[in-house]
Amino acid sequence: MTDVVRLEFQGEIALITVNNPPVNALGQAVREGLLQAFQSAEADAQVRAVVLICEGSTFIAGADIKEFGKPPQAPSLPEVIEVIEGSGTPSVAVIHGTALGGGLEVALGCHYRIARRDAKVGLPEVKLGLLPGAGGTQRLPRLAGVEKALDMIVSGTPIDAAEAVEHNVIDELFDGDLREAGLAYARRMIEEGRAPRRTGEQTRGLENADNEALIRAKHAEVAKRMPGLFSPLRCIAAVEAATKLPLAEGLKRERELFAECLNSPQRGALVHSFFAERQASKITDLPADVKPRPINSAAVIGGGTMGVGIALSFANAGVPVKLLEINDEALQRGLQRARDTYAASVKRGSLTEEAMEKRLKLVTGVTNYSALADADVVVEAVFEEMGVKQQVFEQLDAVCKPGAILASNTSSLDLNAIAAFTKRPEDVVGLHFFSPANVMRLLEVVRGEKTSHEVLATAMAIGKKLKKVSVVVGVCDGFVGNRMVFQYGREAEFLLEEGATPQQVDGALRNFGMAMGPFAMRDLSGLDIGQAIRKRQRVDLPADRDFPTVSDKLCAAGMLGQKTGAGYYRYEPGNRTPLENPELAPMLDAASREKGIERRELDEQYIVERTIFALVNEGAKILEEGIAQRSSDIDVIYLNGYGFPAFRGGPMYYADSVGLDKVLARVRELHARCGDWWKPAPLLEKLAAEGRTFTEWQAGQ
Ligand code: NAD
Repeated sequence: MTDVVRLEFQGEIALITVNNPPVNALGQAVREGLLQAFQSAEADAQVRAVVLICEGSTFIAGADIKEFGKPPQAPSLPEVIEVIEGSGTPSVAVIHGTALGGGLEVALGCHYRIARRDAKVGLPEVKLGLLPGAGGTQRLPRLAGVEKALDMIVSGTPIDAAEAVEHNVIDELFDGDLREAGLAYARRMIEEGRAPRRTGEQTRGLENADNEALIRAKHAEVAKRMPGLFSPLRCIAAVEAATKLPLAEGLKRERELFAECLNSPQRGALVHSFFAERQASKITDLPADVKPRPINSAAVIGGGTMGVGIALSFANAGVPVKLLEINDEALQRGLQRARDTYAASVKRGSLTEEAMEKRLKLVTGVTNYSALADADVVVEAVFEEMGVKQQVFEQLDAVCKPGAILASNTSSLDLNAIAAFTKRPEDVVGLHFFSPANVMRLLEVVRGEKTSHEVLATAMAIGKKLKKVSVVVGVCDGFVGNRMVFQYGREAEFLLEEGATPQQVDGALRNFGMAMGPFAMRDLSGLDIGQAIRKRQRVDLPADRDFPTVSDKLCAAGMLGQKTGAGYYRYEPGNRTPLENPELAPMLDAASREKGIERRELDEQYIVERTIFALVNEGAKILEEGIAQRSSDIDVIYLNGYGFPAFRGGPMYYADSVGLDKVLARVRELHARCGDWWKPAPLLEKLAAEGRTFTEWQAGQ
């Protein structure tokens, strides 16, 4: 055996134990160890049953990410599983924690499977642009049926053990000790004289259903919900092969489709997205011995859109939170909004009534600052005005206990100025949540110039506790996400002045993969938000800026988006489907005329380059200024907060994949044509000249 796989004998039972911390990933040594252990067990004439268990907190949780991108090393997982399944000695996999990807495929190779009640099983390969390539697409449908297998493989979402029993993936549940449960099951197998029951020989799941119709339906769903994604369609094709081909041929087809996914550019982008998220939690200059402060209670100032969402995020994480408003009336509105938000989840079926009441009990409304004296963290979410922020932070400074984290949710104001309203600027940090704050995963952690290491580490720990993806950013107007999206949205609006319609711009960007077009997005959040920002920027920003005017025209006409029934689009009452707004066309004509622009047809590529490269050029400036620690952090922000398609890896990775020389050439053209705000970022010029990428630069080469 190898160090990570152990074989021992308990009478007629061979007990194989995987011990490869932290998650028993299927690295080469584990594969080799499993192969040898199963072969030795089979060769031993005394052995009548084999038990496979894992040490630590989980069964095999998947492939070893350290092997990603490296040449394959023997034995391959399909080979190992073929030996496990083909063995003449019956085997049982004993699952606890999570059996994911290759882990579940190994379990499917065993002849029987039992799981601890709290276990989960799944095939998440699609999330990394792949498909289960070690028989998962052939074996799972044979047990669970085509419908369930397609759901699991195409979504990548794990199911819990009870559901796995319902769908014949797991034979039995157990509670308590793994080893005892496994040995007891093996004894029963021996007593009952059970033979190997090979999954690959099962047909039950493939019978009694209109598999062709199920496959057609999944195709339609994928085309609608995951446009542009490569691997989900290959997942479907692989499952289809299971319905039509004998196991050996199906496995061969699965390998071919797996290789197609492996070679697709989307695969690289999805792997980048995965690693970028892990990397984002690392702060380069934070000494290793810095410990976060404990966070057991929280407070939120302001019970508006954001304040309530933030309070709910704390309650969802089990942290008691006080919500402070200016008066009782505003407070009751905020608390009602909290209740309504949960009630909507209960109605949708994603939350039980009981859980709702439990969480609401964690939220206490207050109107007096003295109630915040012992909060470990306070997040301010009042109006976006410096004067109001000043009042709030001065009061917090007066009442909060020493060591409390004083955080602001400001989207654009100077955090250093906010910190200066207190006598403890080292305790002040930005926690920039995204709307709706209880749903969106992204959290920009804004590091002020005086924010202490300990406070920064605590802010990251808070993000983790709230199950957010936290990214450290520096202080500037709009931080990373909004500073870049401002450029993107402005270019989108310039396109309207050049001749495009909102439908064309939104359509082109959706085809590119954005979750939503910029104009549908603005209608959703309300055009007045942008108007307030533009008003301030017209004063603050350099005079070389040209401002588009369509949005101002809509605001002047009272069309503020969905909330007024019209904006860039028109909406029927109670319906969010964007329809053409007939009052927009004359405004577009007027906006073009005022600037002496002759309206023309714009093609999709131009629309995409003009908007996405605006993100990239600004991202390059942000990187060079040190506002983001690394280019992949910018990608994480865009993937988690702005609906950027994961299969393109984020704006910076996308630029790298296009080639920075090509991006630069376009940016130069736009600079010459549009104006000085398109001046190429020096970092983009430098890297393009050196033939390097943003990703390489982050590595400091
Ligand atoms: P909002 O207008 O919905 O809510 C603000 C709330 O603060 C109101 O309920 C108001 O009564 C309360 N308030 C005002 N002054 C107060 C005071 N002195 N003490 C206590 N409560 C007070 O605003 P919002 O959209 O929730 O935005 C709040 C903050 O979050 C702003 O800084 C904004 O820039 C930021 N932000 C907003 C979004 C968004 O999408 N709306 C996203 C990220 C960040």
